[in-house]
Amino acid sequence: MARRLALHWQILIALAAAVAAGVFGGPDAAIGGLPLVEVYGFLGTIFLNALKMLIVPLIASSIIVGMVGMGDSAAVGRLGIRTLVYYTVTTLLAILTGLVLVNVFQPGIIGGRPAGEVLHLGTLPASVAQKVEGHGMGELVRVILRMIPENVVAAASDNGRMLAVIVFSLLFGFFMMRIPEPGAGTLKAFWQGVLDVMMGITDLVMRIAPLGVFGLVAKTVANTGFAAFRPLLGFFAVVVAGLLFHSAVTLPLLLRFAGGIRNPYDHVKAMAPALLMAFSSSSSSATLPLTLECAERRAGIPRRIASFVLPLGATVNMDGTALYECVAAMFLAQAYGLHMGFGTQFVVVLMALLTSVGVAGVPSASLVAITIILSAIGLPLEALGLILVVDRVLDMMRTAVNVFSDSCGAAIIARRLDAGNPTADATDAEPA
Ligand code: ASP
Repeated sequence: MARRLALHWQILIALAAAVAAGVFGGPDAAIGGLPLVEVYGFLGTIFLNALKMLIVPLIASSIIVGMVGMGDSAAVGRLGIRTLVYYTVTTLLAILTGLVLVNVFQPGIIGGRPAGEVLHLGTLPASVAQKVEGHGMGELVRVILRMIPENVVAAASDNGRMLAVIVFSLLFGFFMMRIPEPGAGTLKAFWQGVLDVMMGITDLVMRIAPLGVFGLVAKTVANTGFAAFRPLLGFFAVVVAGLLFHSAVTLPLLLRFAGGIRNPYDHVKAMAPALLMAFSSSSSSATLPLTLECAERRAGIPRRIASFVLPLGATVNMDGTALYECVAAMFLAQAYGLHMGFGTQFVVVLMALLTSVGVAGVPSASLVAITIILSAIGLPLEALGLILVVDRVLDMMRTAVNVFSDSCGAAIIARRLDAGNPTADATDAEPA
């Protein structure tokens, strides 16, 4: 029997076909009166919904199983601190990369004049205005408050509030192992079973991944096209260069020197299906089932580590998003002719770091975070209108970087913890 094409190749082919279909068909193509964009939308939505339905049980079960796998509180503490340090350091490195590039290339200045005078500053569409209004500095406080939900079932009913589910699951897992038998053992078997079932359903959903990816991307390309990009090419290029630098230089260097992984390319190859999925869906959360599967089965990261680090990362670790927020805020400040001194730039860096933690892993989530930064540095919310045209495609790229950084974190932490504890049980990994 002929060998099946590897999943990442299938998805890549679907991506190429989607770009071709979107570009050549445009937004009005139809077959027998049926608009093709609707067909693409249908395919994409089925696939995304199938993944999204897994998020809540997957996050809960994988974090609980991860906590149980770690055993004593000291091990939980070690893993927690390493995870926190990795997430903070890489996010900061990403932001600084963006900050340097945006200062060097100044995409917001065109021909010596603020871009706002050259391009007409767009007005904010009502749908976006509604989404971002009322999100000021208080939003930061609200993020912290949302971590402790007053009703965990209500929080679990909203894919945008996963931080609350994570906190609850961490507590649940921690105290589950401290209750007497038979409760502890029964619960452990239950949650392990839930996790296995979720991974099984993920396998099934992944079979339609190429079709889903085709639908998602073809719809975006057909609706957006490429012409609208031209005036924002400078901004676009700076974001892409920053994302590329972070994922092709910074993170591989960390994999090599902090994680001792000889060939970082192998890690990229193992994670490829998840990265392509992140790119196509623009959602770290929707990609989580696949991120976990690739990390455990293809990259050989032990389950007890992957199932703790990755769900957390999908919500709180967003290197690509933080870089984008910083470049976008600086670009808009340049475009409005606002002078940005050292102090103000420091505020931007800090706010990008903090807000990237609160941003949900869903499409275009950073727009809200950017408005928080804009109000902090004194720019009107309408400024956001300027970058909306390119946001969709940049969202795809930054989401892929977000997921890549999570996976690098899991790989590095796994290596370091096992190096410090050579007797660690590595059998919980399921190699490809
Ligand atoms: N779409 C991004 C993610 O899911 C978040 C964002 O930057 O908008 O990771």
